[in-house]
Amino acid sequence: MIVALGLLAAVGVLGFAAPRWLDRLAAPHRHPRVSLAAWLSSQVMFVASIAAIPLVLWLRPGDRWHLLPATTVACIRSLREAGTVPWILAIETATWGVGVLLFGWLVGTVSGGLLRHRRDSDERASMLRLVGDNVAGDGANVVRVHGGEFEAYSIGGRVPTIVLGAGAAGLDPDVRAAVLAHERAHLRGRHHLLVAWADALRAALPAVPLAREGAAWVRVLVELSADRHAAASCGCGALSAALLAGSGNGRGAASADTGFAEDRIAWLSGLRATRRGAAVLHYPFAFVLSALPVFATLSVVVTAIAYYCAMLGG
Ligand SMILES: [Zn+2]
Repeated sequence: MIVALGLLAAVGVLGFAAPRWLDRLAAPHRHPRVSLAAWLSSQVMFVASIAAIPLVLWLRPGDRWHLLPATTVACIRSLREAGTVPWILAIETATWGVGVLLFGWLVGTVSGGLLRHRRDSDERASMLRLVGDNVAGDGANVVRVHGGEFEAYSIGGRVPTIVLGAGAAGLDPDVRAAVLAHERAHLRGRHHLLVAWADALRAALPAVPLAREGAAWVRVLVELSADRHAAASCGCGALSAALLAGSGNGRGAASADTGFAEDRIAWLSGLRATRRGAAVLHYPFAFVLSALPVFATLSVVVTAIAYYCAMLGG
């Protein structure tokens, strides 16, 4: 029960406090994947902590594997057996119920959202491949549609597809290459799946800041991340021209519905080459940032329970 209460507290800390430090990570001099990975790993850690609550109440790791200080476990056990704190069983049952209900709700809502996204993406991509033209030189998965002006976007799913509107297809070759590099970065990074996950989590728990604000951040960060890849392969100039061409039409040239082309260009101007050694640390740093609050909260709760128990035991 001690670990379960610690996990419940960690869920609260991640869900409601984590956005306070996660939204400070995005900066022009830092690779956007650091911030993106930190938001996503915090969300995964949040869901995993909820899933672990009923699991630890069943497995009782504190009793079995001596993960907790022996004095704390012995103290709680003696309180329970002596009936000193009659509401221990009620707390245990309520914690178990909260964990099961929350995790069941998340699994149902998030998996439903992801399946819907997959089905809609496949239908939309196959329809556009039917009505659009595939032009030699653009690549096998690129279709040009009539109309759509400077619209350019990609669709994940079974057959990843990039769609170019008539205006985007007619851009100068180096600018069009930047548009395509941006969209290919979305497909390679499975950004559509990441956005669908974040949207589904927000739909499941709209009142939780980690889910609500995370969905907005993931949408922005996948754009910045794809911009970074496109700028690295085609140059900042070509990508800026692509973004300007799109914004001039009121639509994002490099994404379906951007309204922040100027911000992205300003962001590109602050871009610095990532040091080779620093790039290796991006994902471990993001993981530590999501795992640390869980371990810190667990430690605080175990210490508090040990202190409380010692006080009751006299
Ligand atoms: Zn994009």
